[in-house]
Amino acid sequence: MLDNAEQVFAKPRQFKNYIDGAFVGASTGEVIERESPAHGKLVSIYPASSAEDVQTAIAAARTLFDMGEWAYSYAGEKSRILRIVAQKIRENVDELALIETLETSKPLSVSRGEVLFSAELWDYAAGSARSLHGDSHNTLGTDMMGVVLREPIGVVGIITPWNFPLLILSERLPFALAAGCSVVVKPSEFTSGTSLVIAGYLDEAGLPAGACNILAGYGEPVGQAIVESNDVDMVAFTGSSRVGKMAIQASASNIKKLSLELGGKSPSVVFADCDIEAAVDGVLKAANVNMGECCIAGSRLLVQDSIAKTFQARLKERLNDLKVGEPFDPTSRIGAIINQQQFDQIADYVKIGISEGAELICGGDAQAYGGLYYPPTLLGNVRPEMRIAREEIFGPVLSIMTFNDTAEAIRLANATDYGLAAYVWTNDMSTALHCARRIQAGRVWVNAALTGFPELPLGGFKQSGNGRETGRYGVEEYTELKSVHLQIGPQTERWVTDV
Ligand code: NAD
Repeated sequence: MLDNAEQVFAKPRQFKNYIDGAFVGASTGEVIERESPAHGKLVSIYPASSAEDVQTAIAAARTLFDMGEWAYSYAGEKSRILRIVAQKIRENVDELALIETLETSKPLSVSRGEVLFSAELWDYAAGSARSLHGDSHNTLGTDMMGVVLREPIGVVGIITPWNFPLLILSERLPFALAAGCSVVVKPSEFTSGTSLVIAGYLDEAGLPAGACNILAGYGEPVGQAIVESNDVDMVAFTGSSRVGKMAIQASASNIKKLSLELGGKSPSVVFADCDIEAAVDGVLKAANVNMGECCIAGSRLLVQDSIAKTFQARLKERLNDLKVGEPFDPTSRIGAIINQQQFDQIADYVKIGISEGAELICGGDAQAYGGLYYPPTLLGNVRPEMRIAREEIFGPVLSIMTFNDTAEAIRLANATDYGLAAYVWTNDMSTALHCARRIQAGRVWVNAALTGFPELPLGGFKQSGNGRETGRYGVEEYTELKSVHLQIGPQTERWVTDV
């Protein structure tokens, strides 16, 4: 529980933008007020930046990049700054986790885990800065050598969603900085707090002014202006497929590179030979972590028909033990939904599913807990063509389907426009490897759910996006390749010949 609730809610946190090394409000003086979804109390106040503020930030990033002060600086210096930020994140884990939980209403224990993992990402990116390198070719003949350089792509816009504010920022920002890019960040208007705190850490660590600019504000005008700008060379967008598709159109202005991490409809595939108790737990975790507001949520369960009945019954039993409620209660697993619109979307999808013939196994009562708490919900008898089997619900709702054999499991797993993640539960090595290879998804977990390592890349197949974050690919994503052809000794061959 929150010991000092009165104190926390009495004084909402006031945040500033970070533009060209200065902490400033929006030029219009306008603000966004954020209430805690679980408590309905004002907790954060951010600048509501204008299109003009974005142009100032982009100009600062452009100028610094073109000067080369950060782009061409020694990787050891980049690494040092990123490591300082990692350290500051660890030192401030309590405050950062508190902000995340106040703004999102995810359980505090979950926020803490995300903050500590974010520090790992900054540390890993610090190493990436130093290991980033090109390539060389000394096989091009006696008088020619080729060098392949990796150069920072330029000014990068990073636009993030509200579900994992600091974590998603940390999968992108330190890698872009490690590559030598200058950055303009726009966090979600619902959860900008921790991103703006990071600005302070970068400043204290000695990042040159303009290398990282962080502005709060709405998608329109702030996000839109970043995506449309001719002075931005790349945009890393994480959010809905709907806005992602708009970003593709808006980016046409200067054919900028887009890295898109979008929605998902990921399957948990459960074979009869699996460890049932581990699979039940893993399926519930994949479906309900972060209240199901998770791009890689395992929102479709495909279970082998020979165990479907018993597996479903066990899921229902275990679901009753999943505590819904106050995010500051350490025993809570499910906090409140991010806002009323999202809550209504979840409730609507459950109604749609039932009207299309799904069986409500448990949950589904939007009023069960009051406020913005939505109960974990199981829907059975789902058919692949139903909307609840195809569309992202982004809530704690699991749609259950059955399959007969491995071929059918893979066909159903891939029967979606998305391809972000998959979870496979089996004790048969061949089945596991076959599924891992054939399921179209950027990440596949086998007998595990939602483990994370900075070493491993993430991203999506199909309409879940393109580009990869983290791992060695994370820093490379923010670079351009350049080939340099080097003549060794005098160039004696003439193109213009004597006539
Ligand atoms: P969203 O698309 O509504 O918003 C994402 C960001 O885009 C926000 O910062 C928003 O202000 C901004 N935005 C809105 N309109 C814009 C515009 N016209 N131009 C530029 N930017 C604009 O998404 P959300 O509701 O914040 O997050 C939920 C979605 O994000 C889900 O679909 C989820 O699957 C997806 N998501 C994907 C990943 C991933 O890694 N694939 C991770 C987290 C969330």
